[in-house]
Amino acid sequence: MSARRLDGKARAARLLAEVERRVGACKERGVRPCLAVVLVGDDPASQVYVRSKERRAAEVGIEARDHRLPATTTTDELLALVAALNADRAVDGILVQLPLPPQCDTQRILLAVDPAKDVDGFHPDNLGLLMLGQPRFVACTPQGCMLLLEDAGVPLAGLRALVIGRSTIVGKPMVQLLVHADATVTAAHSRTRDLAAEVARADVVVAAIGRPEFVRGEWIKPGAVVIDVGMNRLADGRLVGDVEFAAAEARAAAITPVPGGVGPMTIACLLHNVVLSAERRASPT
Ligand code: NAP
Repeated sequence: MSARRLDGKARAARLLAEVERRVGACKERGVRPCLAVVLVGDDPASQVYVRSKERRAAEVGIEARDHRLPATTTTDELLALVAALNADRAVDGILVQLPLPPQCDTQRILLAVDPAKDVDGFHPDNLGLLMLGQPRFVACTPQGCMLLLEDAGVPLAGLRALVIGRSTIVGKPMVQLLVHADATVTAAHSRTRDLAAEVARADVVVAAIGRPEFVRGEWIKPGAVVIDVGMNRLADGRLVGDVEFAAAEARAAAITPVPGGVGPMTIACLLHNVVLSAERRASPT
């Protein structure tokens, strides 16, 4: 058996087309969706991420406002910028690119973002709403994983799902989304005793660890669906996921490739959150 590849590029393109259409509808109502992007310092990877978010935003008609601050920026200076963006009625979404330099208090800054503009879905209010099953903004990567699972055509209800990794930006919101989809969910992490056995039981595996090909293909239950969130750059320049792709592909029913799986979904879901926020501005209830 060779697994069906879940094409994140194609799914993201469909979502972006939908976002573009909804951006057009907002503009017809006099609202131009706007994302404020805050980048502190000159971390090269962050610069690449920010550039690609801004480019994609422009492609779907979302205005991206760029706020670049020096690496010496203090927590208070950043809080002042966030307060100004919170108060600016023309701004629908605020994205503070992480990681911040060490002198910045990341938690205080994320907490200061107006939850109604928190398009990353990292604010405790939004995480809490997700836990209650009444999401406002769902963190972008887990949201993308759910869309890919939908594409895989798996009826999640009653299935055993394993999420490997418990970060606030991927693992924990992923667990909540799967619970609300009626899967029976296990959260694995670095203290899990027998990861191979957990993987072997799972009908759905979501790997968000950050270790190249850590999940061995032979662990995968035949017919399982595998979502690989990992993005690991090897010394030879290759980008690989957290799952040993070739061996897993031979056993799974469906699997996301790296690159071209979860990666493209994340930015598309971010822009989806921006248009959701703009739609609320266009039709306040
Ligand atoms: P993170 O904050 O570093 O969390 C990693 C998680 O993996 C932790 O919960 C950790 O457990 C767990 N872990 C570490 N070693 C393990 C082991 N031996 N067995 C089982 N679990 C283990 O990472 P993250 O931000 O969630 O990101 C995870 C991966 O996804 C990275 O490769 C990242 O680049 C990628 N990513 C991709 C996208 C995308 O758009 N495709 C977006 C975000 C992240 P403990 O909690 O016990 O330490």
